[in-house]
Amino acid sequence: MTITQPTTQPDTDQAPTALDAARADLRGRLLADGVLLDLGSPGLYGRTGVFERVYAAVDAAAVRSQADLDADVLRFPPVEPLAAFERTDYIASFPDLAAAVSGFTGDDRAHRALLAARDRGERWESFLEPADLMLTPAVCHPVYGLIGDVVPAGGRNLDVLGDSFRREPSLDPMRLQAFHMHEFVHVGTPASARAHRDDRIPGMRALLESFGLGIDVVPANDPFFGRVGQVLARNQVEQSLKFEFVTHVYGPDLPETAISSANLHEDHFGTSFGLRTEDGAVAHSACLAFGLERITIALFALHGTAPDRWDGDVRAALGL
Ligand code: ATP
Ligand code: ZN
Ligand code: MG
Repeated sequence: MTITQPTTQPDTDQAPTALDAARADLRGRLLADGVLLDLGSPGLYGRTGVFERVYAAVDAAAVRSQADLDADVLRFPPVEPLAAFERTDYIASFPDLAAAVSGFTGDDRAHRALLAARDRGERWESFLEPADLMLTPAVCHPVYGLIGDVVPAGGRNLDVLGDSFRREPSLDPMRLQAFHMHEFVHVGTPASARAHRDDRIPGMRALLESFGLGIDVVPANDPFFGRVGQVLARNQVEQSLKFEFVTHVYGPDLPETAISSANLHEDHFGTSFGLRTEDGAVAHSACLAFGLERITIALFALHGTAPDRWDGDVRAALGL
């Protein structure tokens, strides 16, 4: 089949850095080799069979590595109700990444006005109304509203795979607007949540290394928005709340990219969703997130775009 791809144009006229060049090079290779399809908007791709084959293998290996958790499987749509989104407080920390769904609720007259604007070549989305739905930016969000007020002794383990949307358009093929995370979430006591995060870091690292990737585990420094965000960011680093599994996708001299993370939320979700442990204390939570597209693309970057020619050990680790 011949596939005609629109071409996404860079929206900057600044001189490209070495990192920009490396990103453009990888992106070009993934498109030229038919791994990804350009949909004409930065960070939005179609995926082909070879991508799906590796992606499915990565996901299956991630699931095998967490099998001992015996986690309850939950799957959600790519959108969440505004009320649920509100309780996560995401809009306070990352307003620039959030995105809402809107829909047309007008009458015939409003429709005619929309079409007239469209005929004039104008944008017509302003004729749509907010639909009280948000695109889910982190796949564990819907979990916290569903597990009941009291978390049973021993806590709850949840296996959540789903779509994430973050409004961060980029020509870096590692930074997508629409992607998937497989998260292994624990809700329980302060000690069990911390143990969930800490005790599983070595295993996650070993899994990613078994794919041939060089991994560093580093404290995360998330880009919390605005001035209040600076305080949150400092808090995250000082309290070592979140760790990232980073790898050199663009060579040893350029910055590493996070392909997974291990995040302790402390009582953040417990407080906003009213979750308690059996002793009446506020529940704590933690999640391990595998960034499925990032791991997959890191593998293509390192091993090339023909998985049948990958090293036998790597293929064995992935079950390919
Ligand atoms: P970064 O610091 O690179 O923006 P993050 O800290 O925002 O990453 P998390 O919120 O921890 O990422 O999300 C969990 C995982 O989801 C990340 O480790 C990464 O693998 C993946 N991920 C996050 N943002 C993107 C994106 N824009 N495109 C593709 N994968 C992503
Ligand atoms: Zn999470
Ligand atoms: Mg981010």
